[in-house]
Amino acid sequence: MKITMLGTGNAAVTECYNSCFLLSEDNNHLLVDGGGGSNIFNQLRKVNTDWKDIHHIIVTHKHMDHFIGVLWLVRMICQHINRNEYEGNVNIYSHQEVISLIKEFMEKFLEKKDLDLLDDRVFLNTVKNNEKVNILGNELLFFDICSKKAIQYGFQMTYDNNKKLTCCGDEPYNDNNELYVKDSDWLIHEAFCLKSEEKLFKPYEKNHSTVVDACSIATKLNIKNLILYHTEDKNIKNRKELYLNEGKKYYFGELYVPDDLEVIFI
Ligand SMILES: [Zn+2]
Repeated sequence: MKITMLGTGNAAVTECYNSCFLLSEDNNHLLVDGGGGSNIFNQLRKVNTDWKDIHHIIVTHKHMDHFIGVLWLVRMICQHINRNEYEGNVNIYSHQEVISLIKEFMEKFLEKKDLDLLDDRVFLNTVKNNEKVNILGNELLFFDICSKKAIQYGFQMTYDNNKKLTCCGDEPYNDNNELYVKDSDWLIHEAFCLKSEEKLFKPYEKNHSTVVDACSIATKLNIKNLILYHTEDKNIKNRKELYLNEGKKYYFGELYVPDDLEVIFI
């Protein structure tokens, strides 16, 4: 199993793509969020992944930097199904709010022949808090991250004989989610900026974390490997080094600060 970081930036970045990633085993892919636009296709092309091989998509929440790229995929998948250029079905998983919005988008923006694919080749799957779904042979347990901004679900994936990968979405870990997050082999957690640059980027005003916050949480929760994403992009060339240097003082497992398009074997 590998994770390909298609984007690692927050909503307002211009030097990298918005946060989204692929979980892949051979040629089976699960896309988590789509970033903020049609650049999702460019990111996939750069990692030699054919978007027509994506048949499973999770959407964490409705914010544009996660959601709009998924709408582009829905549009392109529908068009290509109707041209016999996309094989099989696409399954999208999210909570009620996002599923309703995708349906509304399809009804208002797509042609009738594309809309007719709903429930035939395009399946919108509403998941509930604490619901388990089998995706590509792995168990995914969805949980409400208790966001104060928009309903958002994270998930815990169990794979390879009981390994656990947990994604907390783009907001700080909430104590209500301890059951899902604690002792994970891998945790994907947001880090808006360095603690040392807190005054410059004001992460707490936007309900985000610093590198120190995310690393301290991972230490407290006994996380073996921590991936930080959803960051600012003002010094992207040195981001990895700066974030690793700050984070390693607070977290003693394996810390990753991936660049866009980086692949991590999990
Ligand atoms: Zn975001």
